[in-house]
Amino acid sequence: MISVQTALEQLFALVSPMETEGVSLVNAAGRVMSHDATANRDQPPFSASAMDGYAVRSGDITPSASFQVIGESAAGHALDQSVASGQCARIFTGAPVPPGADRVIIQEDVTREGDTIRITGDIGTSDHIRKQASDFATGDALRAPRRLRPSDIALLAAMNVAQVTVYRKPQIALISTGDELVMPGETPGPDQIIASNTFGLKAMLDDLGANARILPIARDNRPALELSFDLAKDADLIVTIGGASVGDHDLVGSVASDLGLEQKFYKIAMRPGKPLMAGRLNDAAFVGLPGNPVSAMVCGHVFLKPVVLAMLGLGAAPSLRQQATLAADIPENGPREHYMRATVTNGKITAETRQDSALLSVFADANALLIRPPNDGPRNSGDVMDYLPI
Ligand code: AMP
Ligand code: MG
Repeated sequence: MISVQTALEQLFALVSPMETEGVSLVNAAGRVMSHDATANRDQPPFSASAMDGYAVRSGDITPSASFQVIGESAAGHALDQSVASGQCARIFTGAPVPPGADRVIIQEDVTREGDTIRITGDIGTSDHIRKQASDFATGDALRAPRRLRPSDIALLAAMNVAQVTVYRKPQIALISTGDELVMPGETPGPDQIIASNTFGLKAMLDDLGANARILPIARDNRPALELSFDLAKDADLIVTIGGASVGDHDLVGSVASDLGLEQKFYKIAMRPGKPLMAGRLNDAAFVGLPGNPVSAMVCGHVFLKPVVLAMLGLGAAPSLRQQATLAADIPENGPREHYMRATVTNGKITAETRQDSALLSVFADANALLIRPPNDGPRNSGDVMDYLPI
């Protein structure tokens, strides 16, 4: 059995970043940008008023000074005239500050009579001008790789970047295996259960930016598994669920190797999730997950997530751990790294009492996987522990 860390390193060696594609800005949210995007212009492209008021020359300002209004500068309608000494221009938010003027007095601080204004308020010290390029300048870049958030999309739009280059979404085929499984919504027979972790994994992987496809359930026989692998052959990553142990009906490893699997490892010193296998299957990376619902989901968090992020060009690194203090004592750990379902509240972590890897309700209650290193001794309330948020 290999360690979680070694398994992860071997998994990273099975994948590489996807090729890239162009997408328009409206479809770019959540995608991972693969090349820097560069501003095609300054923002603002001219010095602009930040307020509604009057643009003046700052040298003219004295308490209760008067100015002659010579015209108007509105957003999208610049005034094509300079402001000379003793003059001002009516100006609105976002409008270009006319040549000559270097300060805006807000309208609340003046009194206007006809075409004359007089300063009647305390005008403060701000010039109320957004200087040209004060947000960003031509040539400034948004650096890749970067997962694009709504604020990035707004910035790219302002930069006049209408299309960005992103990593293609990894195509992931999810194959559930088992004679006992039916799809949610179907009517199970008396000895059947519903395929569940398949759907949890799809949600997890799609959320990361992959495109996960749930294939029809493969029954526990060779032709069914061969057909499923055939249906999955266009995928970048093939994930099977179940059938990976050593029972009479666990055929995944054997069928995959007949189809050309170059197996990298089988079995990891972790709990839950020991019977995990991985390798290259023709053009795809292959991960065989254990079938127990919680085992499959924990392996998703610990292995599939980092692998998908690596495929998305975001680098090969384990899922980021956080730390919390133990709320209650826990006994020593065995020889396998244990990912205990736990709840973190206000910086304190509590392991769930029931840790059976079939219990999805406990898993749904948890918001963390408390990580116990192999052979970790007993831990006391107040000890600082690593966990993965889930
Ligand atoms: P296996 O690894 O095939 O022996 O499966 C281990 C346990 O997980 C068995 O109780 C299966 O019924 C269950 N199981 C396997 N696949 C799934 C699935 N996709 N959804 C829910 N339970 C599953
Ligand atoms: Mg099975």
